[in-house]
Amino acid sequence: MPDDNRVIQRTASVEDRVDAIQAVLDERGMKATEAVEELSRLAEDVWVPRNGARVVAKAWVDPAFRKRLLADGRAAVAELGLPMPKHHRHLVVLENTPTVQNVICCTQCSCTAFTIIGLPPDWYKDFEYRSRVVRESRTVLREMGLDLPPEVEIRVWDTTADTRYIVLPMQPPETIGWPEEKLVDIVTRDSMIGVARL
Ligand code: FE
Repeated sequence: MPDDNRVIQRTASVEDRVDAIQAVLDERGMKATEAVEELSRLAEDVWVPRNGARVVAKAWVDPAFRKRLLADGRAAVAELGLPMPKHHRHLVVLENTPTVQNVICCTQCSCTAFTIIGLPPDWYKDFEYRSRVVRESRTVLREMGLDLPPEVEIRVWDTTADTRYIVLPMQPPETIGWPEEKLVDIVTRDSMIGVARL
């Protein structure tokens, strides 16, 4: 009699399958391991929220830059030496005001202006956030710690493959007059996604 309780593993784990694909590509000279290492390096050292923080701080202290940024985000961030991938054709900058809170999401998957605001956090990719932030944004923001008064209008922006967003948070009044380098330190990733205020 065969042992009916035995679990037959028909499919290898995701990790094993990835390793196997990588090994085959490497064997054929396609340098998969090199590419994976390069992407990891970019994600950890280059595509960091500090890039966006520099953009925001500059917009706070330099009205002419702010104007250019709101007119053409992609061109303005390039001035700071921050390139965007070719397919991120537009960077739309969403200015928060005392009565408007902008929030970004990607209802399809996980798109962000990742070279500027950093790779999306795990919750941004969750089905829960992607579906609920559109339907009940005020509740979702409250659950995430941002309890907005009813007079603040919430605008939710759905990212597409070629249009990426960054929220321009309001400068906290107590930081008016601070040097730009010091302002960079107070800008958080969540404030540039729009789920937090500063
Ligand atoms: Fe996406």
